[in-house]
Amino acid sequence: MEASAPAGWNPVPTATSAVEDAVRVIGGQLLASMQEQPSPGILTSKGINARLIEWSLRDPAFKARLFRFVDVLPALESSAEVVRHLKEYLGEGAAELHPAFRAGLGAASVAPGLVAGPVRGRVAAMARQFVAGESVEDLLRRFRANAAAGMATTIDLLGEAVLSEEEADAFLARNLEVLDTFDRALRGEAPCQSDLGPLGRAEPRVNLSVKPSALAPDAQPADPEGAVASLSRRLRPILRRAAETGAFVNFDMESTRWKELTLALFRSILEEAEFREAPAAGIAIQAYLRESEHDLRPLIAWARSRGRRIGVRLVKGAYWDSEVVLARQRGWPVPVWTRKPETDLAFERLSVLLLENADAVLPAFATHNLRSVAHALAQAERLGVDRRAVEFQALYGMADDLKAALLRAGCRVREYCAVGDLLPGMAFLVRRLLENTSNESFLRQRHAGVEPARLLASPASLDSAAAPPGGRTAQDERPPGARGFRNAASADFTRAAPRARMREALAAVGEELGRRYPLVIAGKEVRTAAEIVSVDPAHPSVVVGRCGSAGPAEVDAALAAARAAFPGWARTPAAERAAVLERAADLIEARRFRFDALMVLEAGKPWLEADAEVSEAIDFCRFYAAEMRRLSEPRRTQEVAGELCHEEWLPRGVGVVISPWNFPLAILTGLTVAPLVAGNAVVMKPSGQTSVLAAWLFQALAEAGLPPGVLAYLPGPGGSAGARLCEHPGTDFIAFTGSREVGCRLWEVSGRTAPGQASLKKMVCEMGGKNAILIDADADLDEAIPAVLSSAFGYAGQKCSACSRVIAVEGVYPRFLDRFLAACRSVPMGDPARPGTVVGPVIDAGAKEKILGYVEQGRREARLAWQAELTPELSASGGFYVPPTVFTEVEPGHVIAREEIFGPVLAVLRARDLERAFELANGVEYALTAGLFSRSPSALERGRRELLAGNVYLNRGITGAIVERHPFGGFKMSGGGTKAGGRGYLENFMFPRVVAENVMRRGFAPEE
Ligand SMILES: Cc1cc2nc3c(=O)[nH]c(=O)nc-3n(C[C@H](O)[C@H](O)[C@H](O)COP(=O)(O)OP(=O)(O)OC[C@H]3O[C@@H](n4cnc5c(N)ncnc54)[C@H](O)[C@@H]3O)c2cc1C
Repeated sequence: MEASAPAGWNPVPTATSAVEDAVRVIGGQLLASMQEQPSPGILTSKGINARLIEWSLRDPAFKARLFRFVDVLPALESSAEVVRHLKEYLGEGAAELHPAFRAGLGAASVAPGLVAGPVRGRVAAMARQFVAGESVEDLLRRFRANAAAGMATTIDLLGEAVLSEEEADAFLARNLEVLDTFDRALRGEAPCQSDLGPLGRAEPRVNLSVKPSALAPDAQPADPEGAVASLSRRLRPILRRAAETGAFVNFDMESTRWKELTLALFRSILEEAEFREAPAAGIAIQAYLRESEHDLRPLIAWARSRGRRIGVRLVKGAYWDSEVVLARQRGWPVPVWTRKPETDLAFERLSVLLLENADAVLPAFATHNLRSVAHALAQAERLGVDRRAVEFQALYGMADDLKAALLRAGCRVREYCAVGDLLPGMAFLVRRLLENTSNESFLRQRHAGVEPARLLASPASLDSAAAPPGGRTAQDERPPGARGFRNAASADFTRAAPRARMREALAAVGEELGRRYPLVIAGKEVRTAAEIVSVDPAHPSVVVGRCGSAGPAEVDAALAAARAAFPGWARTPAAERAAVLERAADLIEARRFRFDALMVLEAGKPWLEADAEVSEAIDFCRFYAAEMRRLSEPRRTQEVAGELCHEEWLPRGVGVVISPWNFPLAILTGLTVAPLVAGNAVVMKPSGQTSVLAAWLFQALAEAGLPPGVLAYLPGPGGSAGARLCEHPGTDFIAFTGSREVGCRLWEVSGRTAPGQASLKKMVCEMGGKNAILIDADADLDEAIPAVLSSAFGYAGQKCSACSRVIAVEGVYPRFLDRFLAACRSVPMGDPARPGTVVGPVIDAGAKEKILGYVEQGRREARLAWQAELTPELSASGGFYVPPTVFTEVEPGHVIAREEIFGPVLAVLRARDLERAFELANGVEYALTAGLFSRSPSALERGRRELLAGNVYLNRGITGAIVERHPFGGFKMSGGGTKAGGRGYLENFMFPRVVAENVMRRGFAPEE
């Protein structure tokens, strides 16, 4: 069959028949050698493991449950918990695994240790298949055993994504300890066969693999400059010691969000004067990434220009599943090849590139795939590259027969040995289990008995007819929702291009600050004597804009204009109204970075959050447009002969939108465009603090074709203009999001019927929350802690969905608190105009004072466990900064446990068990968002059933609702139960009407 080179690739020079012949010969020889001395692996294991693997291969659902159980096991403190989780995950299957388990599970309540001990032993044994040991001594033993067999070693200290400076320091110390221990221990020892390069030249014996994410808790891939600085602080001592001891340091490659950062770090630190010559260093390149060739070429050129030979470890990539899932969730192009032969082909292409540049790089082919190995060897032969100028690398516990065969063939082989505690080891173990049991994996195919010719066949020749070649994106693959609606994709600030556009937009919008924005009534600008001055919360002396301020006359005029415009707009076909919203969405999307920049400057919102908000605004326009198209088709109420009955929807009339400053674009857009598309006329009164953003939104809607008068831009004081708008008899509905105090007042206002009022006023009301995240005893703290941090402190806690209470159950409380408080110290606080900032200023001086009042209240009633310190620079800036604060020993009756604070203040409560944690979570007056972190299926089920909140989030943060995916809104004192961005929302702004027509004439009814 034809070679199907993925889009963007040159024809593969590897697929010549001479190379293919050589691959077959070399591969055949290696295979024969491997078969002489077969070695055990997880796929050929015996006993329970064999059964587990066999079931996993047969049943993907069982595999998911098994891997989840393996993942949670190290966190379970008692035997009873082990048994409970085993039963919850594997059910009856657990007893089937081993006769001893059947007895033990039956008697579990009496003697859970009967089961827990062997289960832990089993999983530990499984982990030991992939983890070379727990201590440096274990490692040294393995190193020597490898050396005796002629094989070199690379050392990986388990531990990924650290949460605090302490954890990163510990990781650094362990790396230094390894370098020291090995330096001492190996002195005077002769190199092994794999340490010798061409002409017998000895290469560094100690080879350390480092994961950059473990070096700094505050490294933000969206801020590479800042991240490189903080990662370099801990990398320097490692490189220094490596240089002193003659060791080699390899930079591992992690998920794609770390890729640009890792490449930048590699280059920038090796350019430092101290490291220009030493140590020897290398970096992993992942062939499964579509853009790896574009990364590798400049890297090679850079190495050559600096006269420095660097190691390049070519891997396929270990995060394939999560890369695909996350890209699809975010609507980003899938960064990896989506068909296995595409990755294999890319590996071959990159192998050739490395071999062609073996003067500048030391190629290391890290794969267990015989075809990939044989191909590299065949190409080396073709290009005249000495076999000993390259390395083959494989993981500990995998493909031992291939390692042995390569050694026998005179190749240099290095084994990647992970060492460390079981707990951080679980992510590594689960990745290895996934890899081994994946249908696509070479090892699995070999185990399944695929014949040698196919195992050695060129990936270009493998069947790919079922799917189009390359170039597929997440947008194509994601199933659309309602009427083809798809969420807008936010900018990926881990990439250079969007960051550059954002910087340009910040500069451009910065130049335009201070402009005047008059009111707009009936399509005409109206100047007022009074004005609202909007300032930058990070630099309050900077005026963002001066907006008109409505008084009673403007209120009345705007309502009258809306009333006049309403009938024409209501008669406009729904499809035309929807098209206006869709054009507005396109305009906002085209101006994405300008809106982002304005939001940073006017609302103090950090980049990522600002950009997500722009996406949400776009989504509201497109989703409500799609919804209106659906609702505009009359719905037959019942299929009955002789009568045609249809339900249809009529707009309510004239509405008032009162919106807050904390989602100055998204909430305002949602509240405005929903009633508009339903055929209503609207008077938009945005928050004073963010009236410029509202003017920009108004402008986009006007440009999109909204007729004059249908929408008024009417900023003004809430107490006078807002109140008059809502009380006015000419107002048919109020769409409000804001504080509980104002919301409750307006709810009352909406209930009063004034003389002359045409209809009962409808109120759509969203207010605050006192949202909790529950931490169960078995929670994954690596996931829970970052989620709590971002939910509590993102945008300085100024979200109605923010987490303001954490409720941790007894068993996990001390562990959670220790790690959490340490992690708090690494939350980046600063000017939101900087890309790495997570906590910026609060909106104004009044908000700051109010939040600080709650901090004082907290000091009186609970224990201040942590408070950030403002840097002198921030204090001097005059910005409205409030230091993130955590209180512990908080009782449910305390003010800080009950009242909404709307700032970066978190109350931590302790619950004796999950039952009590649910009681505490539900025992407040609000019901907006709630979260639960647990790895117990039954606890998650309970969370689903019992958590009283409009939006319940399991094992994830509790902010960041996405239109259509997470319709948003709460009940109790959080709101009236409406769901923004969900089905049914538009109906709030319409009256249902049913038309029934008798179609029977003289006993004759038309056939249906
Ligand atoms: C010494 C060593 C160091 C390593 N260091 C790193 C590292 O720093 N970073 C890292 O990410 N990984 C690293 N890995 C892991 C490596 O990326 C692979 O996951 C692993 O080696 C399996 O690939 P393979 O070539 O051995 O097996 P194969 O079975 O030939 O390939 C499996 C790989 O193919 C890819 N794949 C699977 N399904 C598909 C699909 N549908 N479409 C497209 N591609 C698919 C995936 O990358 C998968 O891992 C390392 C591996 C070794 C041996």
